[in-house]
Amino acid sequence: MALHVFALTGGIGSGKSTVARHWRSLGLPVVDADVLAREVVAPGSPGLDAVIARFGPEVLTPDGELDRRRLGRIVFDDPAARADLEGILHPLVRRAAGSAFAQLADRGETLACYEVPLLFETGQQDTYRPVVVVWASPETQRERAATRDGVTPEAIQARIDSQLPLDEKAARADFVIDNDGPLPRTLAQAEAVLTAVRERVDAADG
Ligand code: ADP
Repeated sequence: MALHVFALTGGIGSGKSTVARHWRSLGLPVVDADVLAREVVAPGSPGLDAVIARFGPEVLTPDGELDRRRLGRIVFDDPAARADLEGILHPLVRRAAGSAFAQLADRGETLACYEVPLLFETGQQDTYRPVVVVWASPETQRERAATRDGVTPEAIQARIDSQLPLDEKAARADFVIDNDGPLPRTLAQAEAVLTAVRERVDAADG
């Protein structure tokens, strides 16, 4: 049996990590694209060298790490700079994801989840099926993410506005987990969705 990879996505603060953590606790391997995106620009990596070559050493912290906030500010309202950055990062993240999946396949895993916050924005929604979207209302996203990140709700709103609307992601999903309510209700849905994903994948692959 080959490894089948399905997708988990949502919006900022909608509850992706919460669902991913619960699935991991149930034994499902979850690969996090955000973690890969940090690894491919770790100090000494070819990815970091490429970012410095394009944006200059001023995007480094005094410790030689990538200053993500600073880089974020540079690309936030400069589409050309953003496209350059994505042109560097996306192929590296794709390759890193490919090797993570290869390792899981070698280990004999048959199902894994790829947690990708910008699945739709990066056009990967047909690569990993089914697609699971974790949904919460914009108000809930703002409150939870602002508390988590120690920033203002306005700062979170700017991030929400830069992403494809979560309602649209939900409309395009195969499964939606409603995380607007209390946590136990979300975790119960996460378990039911995982069962449904397994059934669907077994029916398609088996
Ligand atoms: P994402 O990964 O989509 O950005 P998180 O899973 O980190 O979102 O959730 C955002 C914040 O909200 C976290 O601090 C998390 O602990 C909290 N949270 C998530 N779901 C709930 C819930 N149903 N009830 C209360 N707090 C929640």
